Amino acid sequence: MGLNPFEVAKKQIDIVAKEMGLDPNLTKYLKRVERALIVSIPVVMDDGTLEIYEGYRVHHSTVRGPGKGGIRYSPEVNLDEVKALAIWMTWKCSLLNLPLGGAKGGVCVDPRKLSKRELERLTRRYTSEIINIIGPDIDIPAPDVNTNAQIMSWIMDVYSMQKGRSVPGVVTGKPVEIGGSVGREPATGMGLYYMLEAMCEKLNFNLKSQTIVIQGFGNVGGTIADLLFKEGCKVIAVSDISGGLLYSDGLEIDKLLEWTRQGNTLKDYNDERYKFITNSELLTTECDILIPAALENVITQNNASNLKCKIILEGANGPVTPEADKILYDKGIHVVPDILANGGGVCVSYFEYVQDIRAYFWELDRINKELKKIMLKAFEEVYELSKERKIQLRTAAYIIAVSRIAKAIELRGIFP
Ligand code: NAD
Repeated sequence: MGLNPFEVAKKQIDIVAKEMGLDPNLTKYLKRVERALIVSIPVVMDDGTLEIYEGYRVHHSTVRGPGKGGIRYSPEVNLDEVKALAIWMTWKCSLLNLPLGGAKGGVCVDPRKLSKRELERLTRRYTSEIINIIGPDIDIPAPDVNTNAQIMSWIMDVYSMQKGRSVPGVVTGKPVEIGGSVGREPATGMGLYYMLEAMCEKLNFNLKSQTIVIQGFGNVGGTIADLLFKEGCKVIAVSDISGGLLYSDGLEIDKLLEWTRQGNTLKDYNDERYKFITNSELLTTECDILIPAALENVITQNNASNLKCKIILEGANGPVTPEADKILYDKGIHVVPDILANGGGVCVSYFEYVQDIRAYFWELDRINKELKKIMLKAFEEVYELSKERKIQLRTAAYIIAVSRIAKAIELRGIFP
């Protein structure tokens, strides 16, 4: 990987600013984050030693509403990565026209090396360190890579203990028993599915006869793999951090999910029909649809020309660099950009937040209907603009998202 995602995010702003003729002052403004908090998180380990981890919470833009964005636990987390992810959240919320801004958080830690109690202590202390800049009216975290509903429960508990009352609206992605929303966990995968269906319809592709390759087998990659498998589509390769499995007749996704949910990695799965491949081999596997759903900067100028797919559906945030984007465009590969494709998670997070504030909970049917409505509306807007101006879907999505933010800044003015 090695590329700096913050530089990528800024380059994307420059590209869209040029395309839409954005005021240079606004371009300059949008390339900065509103605030970035760096915290030290001391954790007493189970053996009595003290470890100190570094954590971050960044607000990029809260001009249209409170910050919204996940918390990532990974040894690769750094301030620039979190800034980039916060910027992408601004565009995503704006594109879906949600009254929320862009934020993100992260802790530089390998959670697989921590016991459950250590993970809990880390989460509670991290929450306590960032408590002044989160809250239902300020910034509402959610799960991201290596964080989940249990971690959100601890965050909600710390915040609620400080306030002296239960405040479910401080985080989304919680278990339903404490104010979570039905349909939140599979929401990103669900949204990806709606976007893939819509894209295939535009291109006159029959989804069921396409071959599909997915990188990442966690919440996002695992859910979309599951949905596609259940619909009878052929998922020929999937991968996780340990590597990937390939079978041209179609993998048995249900069995693989059962295996990984027990804490196993794909590398250790035993089926002699399946070929083990590396993550870089997976990306250049011949297929119709490629879904990167792990980390950013995996499709770069170094491998873009070797890709052999027709559609890239960005499940991960920032998987394709701007240089790779150009190569893919010239090759005629359709890229459904992250800020549109994976917006299902933040969309249902928004529903969860609304339900928490109102203390009135919806049925799954309503969640999925509203999710589909919002995402398809955004898809149509992006697709139409891209056709009208003969530009990539990503540029079109950015023009819509950035225009809304620019308008909000213009209306509110720059303080003081
Ligand atoms: P997750 O932790 O549930 O799963 C991540 C998956 O990626 C795992 O299978 C892991 O083994 C794999 N992985 C990790 N490092 C890898 C590497 N170096 N190479 C290949 N695979 C690797 O995380 P998630 O929630 O599924 O998030 C995945 C991506 O989707 C991230 O980019 C995240 O920002 C984005 N995203 C997540 C959500 C959400 O609701 N969870 C919403 C929008 C976007």
